[in-house]
Amino acid sequence: MGKKWGRYKAGGRSQPVSCVYCGRLVPRIKAVSVRKGFRVDPRIPGIDRRRVFMPSFKGYACISCAKHRGLI
Ligand SMILES: [Zn+2]
Repeated sequence: MGKKWGRYKAGGRSQPVSCVYCGRLVPRIKAVSVRKGFRVDPRIPGIDRRRVFMPSFKGYACISCAKHRGLI
């Protein structure tokens, strides 16, 4: 009782983030922020783009993945 879990101090704002491509944990300062969205192919018949839910999220990619995909 009353045991306090100290706040994670080490590193401060450089908490590791996981790469959205390879899933590797990388320090945030070394990660590249990416916005990943799911594009719906407008050529697909019967799809109204305005009604399709297109989620997008912000993620991070490690340096190697970012380079690989031309993000940086
Ligand atoms: Zn990666």
